[in-house]
Amino acid sequence: MSNVVVFCESQNGKVKKGSLELLSAARGAGKNIVAIGLGPAAKETTDELAHYGAKNVMLCSDEKLSNYNPQLYLAAMLEALKDLDFEVLLASSSVLARDLFPRLAAKLEAAVTSDCTELDLNSGLQVRRPMYAGKCTAQVDFKDSAKKIILMRPNQLPVGSVDNSATAEVSEFALPAVDLKTIVKEVVKGASEKIDLTEANIIVSGGRGLKEAANFKMLEDLADTLGATVGASRAVCDAGWVPHSMQVGQTGKTVAPTLYIAVGISGAIQHLAGMNGSKVIVAINNDPEAPIFQKATYGIVGDAFEVVPKLTEEFKKLLN
Ligand SMILES: Cc1cc2nc3c(=O)[nH]c(=O)nc-3n(C[C@H](O)[C@H](O)[C@H](O)COP(=O)(O)OP(=O)(O)OC[C@H]3O[C@@H](n4cnc5c(N)ncnc54)[C@H](O)[C@@H]3O)c2cc1C
Repeated sequence: MSNVVVFCESQNGKVKKGSLELLSAARGAGKNIVAIGLGPAAKETTDELAHYGAKNVMLCSDEKLSNYNPQLYLAAMLEALKDLDFEVLLASSSVLARDLFPRLAAKLEAAVTSDCTELDLNSGLQVRRPMYAGKCTAQVDFKDSAKKIILMRPNQLPVGSVDNSATAEVSEFALPAVDLKTIVKEVVKGASEKIDLTEANIIVSGGRGLKEAANFKMLEDLADTLGATVGASRAVCDAGWVPHSMQVGQTGKTVAPTLYIAVGISGAIQHLAGMNGSKVIVAINNDPEAPIFQKATYGIVGDAFEVVPKLTEEFKKLLN
């Protein structure tokens, strides 16, 4: 049986949810999973990778991989894969992966498809991805002979059960020497320590209806109560109320949480393109004609400044 390679990203010593989803999908399809982890922190995740189905874990713990540098990561991936028999490589469609894997595909002459929302490894290989801001869905077919690199959007597949008794064979490989064209000296992290928007299970997003930057505090209170991450429309990012890293939409992040609460957001097509994969959408808007209500599972017509604090209060009572 040919191997399925899963590129696994981690944060704070835990494997990211998008990677766990891919391990679970490959395990569910009965594949032999080779997990690859890069950077010194990857060592901490070997048990977790095994518990979710990895039979082999390949690590390169070189300090130089602490921060993402495309040349170094590419060299590490080429080294990891050079003697490995595999047909499919899966990775979560993160910012890092969307930069790294087209480079790898070019080197390996592999096929690559990103931002996929449906994956079936069971009966042949079925991959689907939205196109034109979600207006249609493409089925991607691969040439049989090609190696296939598939980048899946997080939050699209279920995370399977944990098997704490499962073990994996762990091997370390060395980072080859690279003549670097660029050096990453420092990565300045965003202020938020919250779960990344693309991986969040609950998102509370704010738009121009919030009137000014200071009023995002109200959304943060609701988000803290729910264990959610705060997002935003482009209008408020452009206005400088919140950083662009919080932008949801066609030119921002694509998200697919279980619950998306849109507060004071009109529901422009470009915003919907980034969040219409959410399982439940709650819209709070004082205009009953706002387009967001056409997409919402539940709509609350009302003033955000009255509705949001009441919701926070009620959720606090329920959850505490
Ligand atoms: C090429 C291109 C790419 C784009 N990419 C993106 C993108 O990635 N993401 C994105 O979001 N946008 C994007 N846009 C912009 C998009 O078209 C909209 O302009 C933007 O989404 C509007 O943001 P908004 O809903 O916050 O503001 P508005 O459209 O101004 O809506 C504000 C809403 O708040 C409501 N409101 C007002 N007061 C209250 C209150 N007190 N209580 C409750 N509700 C209230 C109003 O009824 C209104 O519906 C893009 C545009 C272009 C042209």
